[in-house]
Amino acid sequence: TIVTRFAPSPTGFLHIGGARTALFNWLYARGRGGKFLLRIEDTDRARSTEAATQAILDGMAWLGLDHDGEVISQYARGDRHREVALELLEKGQAYKCFATQDDIESFREAARAEGRSTLYQSPWRDADPASHPDAPYVVRIKAPRDGATVIHDQVQGDVTIRNDQLDDMVLLRSDDTPVYMLAVAVDDHDMGVTHVIRGDDHLNNAARQMLIYTAMGWPLPVYAHIPLIHGPDGKKLSKRHGALGVDEYQKMGYPAAGMRNYLARLGWSHGDDEFFTDAQAQDWFDLNGVGKSPARFDFKKLDNLCGQHIAASDDAALLHELQGFLAATDQPKLQPEKSALMEKAMYCLKERAKTFPELLDKAQFILADRPIIPDEKAAGQLDSVSRSILTQLTPHLQTVTWSRDELEAVAMQFAESVDMKFGKLAGPLRAALAGRSATPSVFDMMLVLGRDETIARLSDAAS
Ligand code: GLU
Repeated sequence: TIVTRFAPSPTGFLHIGGARTALFNWLYARGRGGKFLLRIEDTDRARSTEAATQAILDGMAWLGLDHDGEVISQYARGDRHREVALELLEKGQAYKCFATQDDIESFREAARAEGRSTLYQSPWRDADPASHPDAPYVVRIKAPRDGATVIHDQVQGDVTIRNDQLDDMVLLRSDDTPVYMLAVAVDDHDMGVTHVIRGDDHLNNAARQMLIYTAMGWPLPVYAHIPLIHGPDGKKLSKRHGALGVDEYQKMGYPAAGMRNYLARLGWSHGDDEFFTDAQAQDWFDLNGVGKSPARFDFKKLDNLCGQHIAASDDAALLHELQGFLAATDQPKLQPEKSALMEKAMYCLKERAKTFPELLDKAQFILADRPIIPDEKAAGQLDSVSRSILTQLTPHLQTVTWSRDELEAVAMQFAESVDMKFGKLAGPLRAALAGRSATPSVFDMMLVLGRDETIARLSDAAS
C-alpha cells in the first residue's frame, strides 16, 4: 500500500504552503486506498511549541485532511534514532569522530589556502578504534566519496549530486542527540512511508537522507519535491499576497471545500479542470500533473472557486459550516429560529457568495429584527409617496397564496394599477424588508420571511 505523510515542524502557524503539502499527500494516499500519516517534527525543543502543534491539527481539521493512526512525535522517537546510529556504527557504515571545533577550523583554513573543498574530511574515518581517545565524539556517516547520488524525483526529474559534495554528516552529536536528517530518514522508514511529497526546499536533504537509507540497506521511498508557492508577482510569497496561516483563511470565511480545490490547483493541474469535488481530486491527483515551476497565489481564483463551491453545496451542510465559521471568528451563534430561516433561505443566499461574510451579508434581512432600521440609501427609498404605495400594497398581500408565482403576479398587477414600473416598487420593498438596497430578490425575501413578518415590516416602514 501507498503510505504518505505530512511532517510539519511545530514552530508557527500552519501556513498555506504547508497546507498544500499536506493536501497533496492526502490526495495521493486517499486516491489510492493508501494511508496518510502525520508526524510532528518537534526535535527543535527551543522552537517547537504545543500551541503550534495545536494550530497544525486545527488547520488540518478545518481543511478536512484526516490522517491515519496516531500523531507521531519525532522527539519521542529519539531512542530509536540513536539506535540506528549505533547500528550504523556497528556495521562500519559510521564512525566516531573526535575532531574538535578547532581541528575542523584548521582543516577548513588549510583547504581554503590550498583551494580545495572545505567540506570536512575527518581523519577518524579510517582510524583504528584501539587508537580512540577517551574524549567526546560525534558519530558521522561514512559517505561515499566517489560517484554520484541520483534522486529520481517525480517532479524534478533525475537530480544528480556528486558525492564529493556531501560530507560525512554527523548523525549523533557529542551530547548523544540525533540530528534532524537521521530522524527524518529513520521515521520515514519505520512508518513505512512509500512516497515523500514535500517542498523543494528539502531536495538537497533527500540526498543526505538517501545516504542513511543506503547505509542501512533500506528500500528508498519515491521522492516528489514540489515547487514552493510564489506571490502573484512571481516573488517569494508575502503576507499581503497570501502567506498566511490557514486559520486566517478560515477567518476570512472561505469554505473548506473551495480552499481544498484552490490549493490542489496551486501547482497541480488536470487538463483544463478548475472546479472539482474531493472525489474527483482524489481520483485525478497524480505527481505527473505537478508543475516544475512555482505556482502563483491568486486571490481572485480562490474567490472564484470558493463561490462555485458555496453555490454547489448542500444547504444543510453549508449552514453547518457557516456555524463553524461563526464559532471560529468568535461571533454569536445563530438562534434556532434564525438558523431555520437561514436554511430555508440558503438556496438564494448561496448565489454569488464567495465567502461566509458575503453570505451573512445577504442574510442581513434574516438576522435583523423588527423594527428594521434602514441605512441611508434605503431610507432614501422610503419617501412619503413610496410609503403610501407600501400601505396600498399590504392588503393584496393579506390574501395572496404565498408562492413565488402568486407573489410575482400580485406585485405586477399592483404596480400596473398604480401606474408604476415594478422596478420602482422593488427599491421601497427592499428598504422595508431588509433596510438596505443590496439584498436577495424581494420575492425570495418574502418567501423566506413569510406573510406575517413581511406585512409587519411593510407596515413598520409605511407608518
Ligand atoms: N519538517 C519539515 C518542514 O516543516 C518537513 C520535512 C519533510 O517533509 O521531510 O519543512
